[in-house]
Amino acid sequence: MLKGKNRSNISRRKFLVGTGQFVAAGSALSIYSASGSENYFSLGVASGAPRPDRVILWTRLAPNPLNGGGMSSAPAEVRVRVYKDPELRSKVIDDVFITTADEGHSVHYHARGLGAGREYWYQFSFDDVDSPIGRTKTADPRADEAKIALAYCQNYESGFFSAYRDLADWAPDCVIHTGDYIYEGAAGKLGATMRRVAEDKRQMFERVRTHVGPEITTLWDYRNRHAQYKTDKNLQAAHAAAPWIVAMDDHEVDNNWSGSIPQDPQQQTPLEFRIRKLAAFQAYYEHMPIEKPPILQGTESQLQMYGAFRIGPAQLHLLDTRQFRDDQSCGDGRKVYCEETSNPGRSMLGKTQETWLFDQLRASASPHNVIASQVWFTPYKFNAENSEAVRNLDSWDGYPAARSRLSDVLASGVNRPLILSGDWHIAMASTLHADPFDRNSARVGHELVGSSISSGCPWSYQMQQVRDQNPQVEYLNGEQRGYLRTTFTKDDCIANFRMVRDSGLPDSPAFTDLEMRTSEV
Ligand code: FE
Ligand code: CA
Repeated sequence: MLKGKNRSNISRRKFLVGTGQFVAAGSALSIYSASGSENYFSLGVASGAPRPDRVILWTRLAPNPLNGGGMSSAPAEVRVRVYKDPELRSKVIDDVFITTADEGHSVHYHARGLGAGREYWYQFSFDDVDSPIGRTKTADPRADEAKIALAYCQNYESGFFSAYRDLADWAPDCVIHTGDYIYEGAAGKLGATMRRVAEDKRQMFERVRTHVGPEITTLWDYRNRHAQYKTDKNLQAAHAAAPWIVAMDDHEVDNNWSGSIPQDPQQQTPLEFRIRKLAAFQAYYEHMPIEKPPILQGTESQLQMYGAFRIGPAQLHLLDTRQFRDDQSCGDGRKVYCEETSNPGRSMLGKTQETWLFDQLRASASPHNVIASQVWFTPYKFNAENSEAVRNLDSWDGYPAARSRLSDVLASGVNRPLILSGDWHIAMASTLHADPFDRNSARVGHELVGSSISSGCPWSYQMQQVRDQNPQVEYLNGEQRGYLRTTFTKDDCIANFRMVRDSGLPDSPAFTDLEMRTSEV
């Protein structure tokens, strides 16, 4: 099986500049040829995993994005060019990447030999058609400042991605995406519905556009769903503006899955779920600028998502809080703890990742230590006074022993710990304490969450009703959609909660709902 890889040794003599024709290198490789008028780059371009000397450049050839892509089964040679300037005058890479049907004709080009902390512009070409131009930036551990955006939860049906237009305009050093990049559900009904959000309150939610097809379960389905999301112009603009660092949460596979256990075991057998996960992981890789493909063996699949990056003064630890966790306790949901919840052996990260994270944190000398988690670290009590606390058992709140272990490490001399997370569709800022509900106990760090890009928050009203039960939370806004801007300098982090006026409009303007310095909280 021919896998896509960089072919720098042979590429220059194989590629005949200017003719738009690709020539096979005397091998059995058959080369796709088409009319030259197709829109191969309907999904845009992206970059990701920024390192001081390299970055991943991504695209996927998809002239018919919602129907499997529309390429033939033959391999395709894609030209990759990288420049030092936006006018594309100073070229540093001109190469060819061979991609195949096995990887959905996606391109993951490892652009190497780059300078640290430098901006680059890149473009792909295939069959005489040029892609849009992307801007990327390599990491620089010595830089004094880092601009990092946090985005997550972008249900295509519940809003337009206008937040991404604003994010693209900011042109950060990198974008962290903590998951729910796609949603797996079937196409819903267009228009507004009223939902009861509390006993005494109903609220309107609107479906502004619809998914194509039923709930996704096969590779074909997952490819088409990713492609549908990627056709959004504002999402494309955000990918073309900065390198992304990504990890999936639950909806890239199925709601609230954990390890190899689905949320609804009565609806799908363990074998069906494992096969579904294979397809979801493969399609996720094909659509994301990530470094490594999934390891697929029989019906088992694994995707390397957790890892460390150094962006200016911030050491970033990207976590995978979905793949290696123990199953949610007490049957999941928002509930009071059952006996299982407090079992000290329960893990959110799995042993290997937890050891890796603790070693990383203890060894890190960087001014800021950011931990990007898919789910909230901050506890939240969802009910009123004088009753046992109701918690979200899918978040770190459902894994109290694992959270304590990490809190203890953060409290043991790690510089400025800051958790950035997502999942809960609500903007939030909190101070983390050794004893989560005791504000007199030692301060461990902060957690900041921007709003979701488009996914709605029907539980926002209820959460606001019990704010006084949760003094650890300083800011909470689930009524608007948006994302988070963070600017790190050596001594401080300035967080800017950006919100769009109306996510029911594709070009809604954005504004700052709150700006805060973590040093002052
Ligand atoms: Fe979500
Ligand atoms: Ca989620």
